[in-house]
Amino acid sequence: MSKPHCALPAQQDDLRAQLRFSPDTGEIWLHEHRMLLVHAEAQASLRRELIDTLGMERAKGLLLRMGYASGLRDAELARPYSEQAQNDVEAFLVGPRLHALEGIVRVTPLKLEVDRGARHFHGEFLWENSWEGRWHRHQFGTHHEPVCWTQIGYACGYTSAFMGRPILYREVECVGQGDNRCRIVGQPIEAWADAAEWTRLLAPVSIAEQLIELQSEVTQLRSTLEQRSNLPAQMVGSSRSFQQACKLLQAAARGDIGVLLLGETGVGKELFARALHDMSVRREAPFVAVNCGAIPHELIESELFGVEKGAYTGAQASRAGRFERADGGTLFLDEIAELPLAAQAKLLRVLQEREVERLGSEHARKVDVRIVAATHAELAQRVKDGGFRSDLYYRLNAYQVPIPPLRERQEDISALAKNFLTKYAAIQGKKLRGFTDKAKRALLSHGWPGNIRELQNIVERGVILAPPGAWVEVEHLFMPSTGPHPPEYCPTRDGALGPGAGDPEQLLCEAVLGGGITLEQAEAMLIERAVDRARGNLSAAARLLGITRPQLAYRLKRLHEADATPAAAHP
Ligand SMILES: [Zn+2]
Repeated sequence: MSKPHCALPAQQDDLRAQLRFSPDTGEIWLHEHRMLLVHAEAQASLRRELIDTLGMERAKGLLLRMGYASGLRDAELARPYSEQAQNDVEAFLVGPRLHALEGIVRVTPLKLEVDRGARHFHGEFLWENSWEGRWHRHQFGTHHEPVCWTQIGYACGYTSAFMGRPILYREVECVGQGDNRCRIVGQPIEAWADAAEWTRLLAPVSIAEQLIELQSEVTQLRSTLEQRSNLPAQMVGSSRSFQQACKLLQAAARGDIGVLLLGETGVGKELFARALHDMSVRREAPFVAVNCGAIPHELIESELFGVEKGAYTGAQASRAGRFERADGGTLFLDEIAELPLAAQAKLLRVLQEREVERLGSEHARKVDVRIVAATHAELAQRVKDGGFRSDLYYRLNAYQVPIPPLRERQEDISALAKNFLTKYAAIQGKKLRGFTDKAKRALLSHGWPGNIRELQNIVERGVILAPPGAWVEVEHLFMPSTGPHPPEYCPTRDGALGPGAGDPEQLLCEAVLGGGITLEQAEAMLIERAVDRARGNLSAAARLLGITRPQLAYRLKRLHEADATPAAAHP
């Protein structure tokens, strides 16, 4: 049996005769379609650039669609010829001939069943001199899968238009993946197991839209960064006391003086310290923060000043301290009042000599560090009591910046709360409409003993609990009470939180066992107590309960839902 592509030379000539060069008008025509004669090499560079800029997957989709469009056009072009054809096979073969005539690839049918009446198609073709496969291999080396994407797109477009139903082709061999030739198989889309992937590739995606989205994201991030070099975005506030503190900080940032930040827990001392660093000439160097109250006394010296291998049992490797790590930058010593006396003496020496000796080392290292210390304690009183060295105190206390508590910044609460809402809604990927008026009032009337940190945690909880698209209500912010008396946030004179109770655990057990409350209620109370004790900090509360933060968030949400729908009781 003779190969179909060798037959019908008259038709082949017919097609060729339809090709007209019209250099006078600057046009090339194939029948009534305008064509282009382009350099294969130029076309290959375009293909390469598409892959380089968009990535292999996107480029693949784009090239498939380009080929598909070309196949569709050729199906139109072929129609008058195929109408004159003796049978469906002959009619179909106009397409492969056009593909060859256009200089893309030589097509030889290996197996071809076409019956337009029965809507049946199955085709297998040999591709030789494949333009695309060769260039791909030339430019990118051997690929792990077939690469003649434009050509496959063409075959799909042409055959689908010819058959009036989606026909999908795949390359089973390809020179681009190291085979000696390309071979393709085409059949109706339903016959392919992985049709979905190809359908996806054939659907155009708006890269422009994605780019615009990314661009606006970059702009937003950039503005956040720019704000950082002035005052951090979180340092929101127009109240006089806050503005005064900011002015003091900005003035200090122009020089290199050591700064002592004073303020209650949660007022944002670390934020101030970081802002000072970011506004200073040291901003490119490291900012290192140490919470002196959070490090065990026996480890604080090695933490701050570093340690040489073997300095003490357990010192298995030499390690730089925070001073060395902050070299050239700023070292923030939070809760400085908690520093043990021995470490205070050593710190004073480092500040005087401007050099640090690691534990177990005789060798002093020069360090250039700006010290920002912070305390919520009355440091002067500590000095009087003998708990803090007076010489170190005077050294650290060169420039004081008192940071006001949140209750003295009433007019800033709304702006801060809104800021946190935006932040946590973004983190949770939740769209919220804002605070209800009642919630706003509750925020304003709260005492905020935990200051900004407490506000932050409460708003975070509100964002977790509020349903998507809804308003944040007062119940989302403050836990509804399940017990007879809600534990109030009321700071006592020594800063501790009330209410004072004898032995709540004992009482709880008695209440459950005596049938006074259910286990669910006990759990709710326990969670509530933990959240209160952690001053609204969910991570800390979760630690108290020995569960993870997501577990706690889940339980809070469940509790809240149970509270909101009392009718939906358990069976
Ligand atoms: Zn190929």
